[in-house]
Amino acid sequence: MTEHTKGPWIAGKFSSVVGWPVVGSGGRLICDMAFPRHLAGDEAPKVVAFKAEVAANARLIAAAPDLLEALQTVDRQVFCDCFEGTNSPTEHQPGCFVPILRAAIAKATGANHD
Ligand SMILES: [Zn+2]
Repeated sequence: MTEHTKGPWIAGKFSSVVGWPVVGSGGRLICDMAFPRHLAGDEAPKVVAFKAEVAANARLIAAAPDLLEALQTVDRQVFCDCFEGTNSPTEHQPGCFVPILRAAIAKATGANHD
């Protein structure tokens, strides 16, 4: 499995040329949160809201390595009690956090968990 670019990742400052860049360690470009150039100077409410949304998306992407590490740490250290005293020892109980946690890790890494 290919590893992602090492963190931390940082959501950069807005630029009317590239939008919001997300950069990794050493300044490696992870992505540009593109923003239509013709709207860059427009402060209409819809444009302001869209800019805020795109900036929030850039921050979320920049947090991805930290979020993945946090999820993997929780997965290694925390256990559920779904299998104690049940007759279905192969499945987690409804509402258990473990399947959600592992699905998010699998989505981020491309790996398959149980
Ligand atoms: Zn469980």
